Amino acid sequence: MGRSVDPNMRVIGEKFTSIERKLPVMEVGRVCLEPGCATHLSRYNDQEYCALHAPMVVPRMRGTVLDD
Ligand SMILES: [Zn+2]
Repeated sequence: MGRSVDPNMRVIGEKFTSIERKLPVMEVGRVCLEPGCATHLSRYNDQEYCALHAPMVVPRMRGTVLDD
């Protein structure tokens, strides 16, 4: 699936611009940096990877970190 970005996606995105204009907007049309991953990143997501490929950050929910 090496589809390039569909230009129509831009049009769809702009439909919401007037509504969400007040929010800080990141560059439009970004995709996950993971090679082969074409997941579009939210304009409001300042990460460089999608949720699946985001660098693992261990949430310290239990105060326990598995360490080998
Ligand atoms: Zn990804």
